[in-house]
Amino acid sequence: MVNKTNVQAAQETASTISIPKLRKEFKDRVIAPGDPDYDRARTVFYGGTDKHPAVIVRVADTHDVVRVVNLARESGLELAVRSGGHSSAGHSVSEGGIVLDLSNMKDLQIDPESRTAWAETGLTAGEVTTALGAHGLAIGFGDTGSVGIGGITLGGGVGYLVRKYGLTIDSLLAAEVVTADGQIRHVDEQAHPDLFWAIRGGGGNFGVATRFKFQLHEVPDVAGGMLILPATPETVAGFIAESESAPEELSGIGNVMTAPPMPFLPPEVHGKLIIMAFLVYAGEAGAGERALAPFRALATPLADMLKSMPYSEIYPPEEGGDYHPVAASLTMFVDQIDRSVAETIVNRLQLSTASMSVAQLRVLGGAMQRVPADATAFAHRNSKIMVNIAALYEKLEEKATHEAWVADFASAIRQSDKGAYVNFLGDEGEECIRLAYPGSTWERLAEVKARYDPTNLFRLNQNIPPAGA
Ligand SMILES: Cc1cc2nc3c(=O)[nH]c(=O)nc-3n(C[C@H](O)[C@H](O)[C@H](O)COP(=O)(O)OP(=O)(O)OC[C@H]3O[C@@H](n4cnc5c(N)ncnc54)[C@H](O)[C@@H]3O)c2cc1C
Repeated sequence: MVNKTNVQAAQETASTISIPKLRKEFKDRVIAPGDPDYDRARTVFYGGTDKHPAVIVRVADTHDVVRVVNLARESGLELAVRSGGHSSAGHSVSEGGIVLDLSNMKDLQIDPESRTAWAETGLTAGEVTTALGAHGLAIGFGDTGSVGIGGITLGGGVGYLVRKYGLTIDSLLAAEVVTADGQIRHVDEQAHPDLFWAIRGGGGNFGVATRFKFQLHEVPDVAGGMLILPATPETVAGFIAESESAPEELSGIGNVMTAPPMPFLPPEVHGKLIIMAFLVYAGEAGAGERALAPFRALATPLADMLKSMPYSEIYPPEEGGDYHPVAASLTMFVDQIDRSVAETIVNRLQLSTASMSVAQLRVLGGAMQRVPADATAFAHRNSKIMVNIAALYEKLEEKATHEAWVADFASAIRQSDKGAYVNFLGDEGEECIRLAYPGSTWERLAEVKARYDPTNLFRLNQNIPPAGA
């Protein structure tokens, strides 16, 4: 339902920036309160966010981006930068401010010879992966095709090639960034190396990334897909042990969760705890079969869809854009998941009253770990296992219950690694942002921020205030 008061407030703010003038400048790329597209255009992936921006500009190119950045700086209005709109903190839409929506910027230039590509940041992980797949090439993004390459890349990028080729940022060669002063900057190891370091993990703090240049990897067919096992303390601990001892060609995700009513699962399994695992072995086929065998042997699979397939098939076709879950969630790293930790995970999931609850487990290491921790702004190179705990629910009044469940669960399994991955943080405040950027990483980022965004124009994000502010 549209809240009239908020719409009126947004309209009033909009009048201070002259929507008619913006329509002249940006033509049909401007969406303002009262426009037929307004409600759809202000909607982001996660439900529970109901913000009313003064204006949304669907930029067409880098020059549009410069104009919107200048407008935000001159008007003082809050600026939300949106690539794929999947921010779990609700950062891709502003209350009363400007939304710079990159979703129409989808140019992709692939050079199979040099195995590089320039990709505009309105592209999604799925779109890039499908296009690269036609050449037998790939970049590792995350587990979901609709996530924007803007957000995932700037925060790090942990996906199905993380152990083989590292984080998404480990394949980033250069970027085009519009900084707070409206300058278009080519950024790489030689040009603005401080900024190049900061945008590899530091998120949207330093400017609008309009294009990325990636190193591509030869990834033709892979062995992998979905494997569903019953979740018990033994299978969960076994899944982790096998993931740790697997060759680094294999990366995977184990979602320990209540079984949804999927048609290929027997009805008596619905609502029971399962491990919904997604595995990818990026290497020679026979070796892939051998690497997957121990996972199949953990228990009699409830569904076994592991097969040889083009890498791009890891992202199933998207089913429309009307799924907007409301989630209580928390991200953390743990050092180990032995049988006792696995038992806690299983027990805690059984206590949840949410419509769906999940502990997502990802064993890291391999190529990701070989990059020195201070080489990029992603500082958690030595973290062993990432855990994301989430409760999905419908009734907003249940928020406190599910948030408490998530927090208690996290406390019950917390170990020595106190870090957090910025891309899975919600709107949790500076203390949690500092967990993503421990010690000298924070100080270095704050200095780069002071150099390129001294007034904190880019503040609607997991914010790092400029040093000295
Ligand atoms: C269903 C789901 C699955 C996910 N799976 C994974 C996963 O497997 N691995 C993983 O690593 N992450 C994963 N994530 C987290 C994801 O990487 C972050 O939410 C990411 O920020 C989303 O990027 P986006 O462009 O879609 O989001 P947006 O909401 O558009 O952007 C998020 C923030 O990033 C910044 N930003 C985005 N684009 C730009 C740009 N071009 N220039 C400057 N700043 C920008 C802005 O500050 C913005 O607020 C997942 C998220 C969801 C919702």
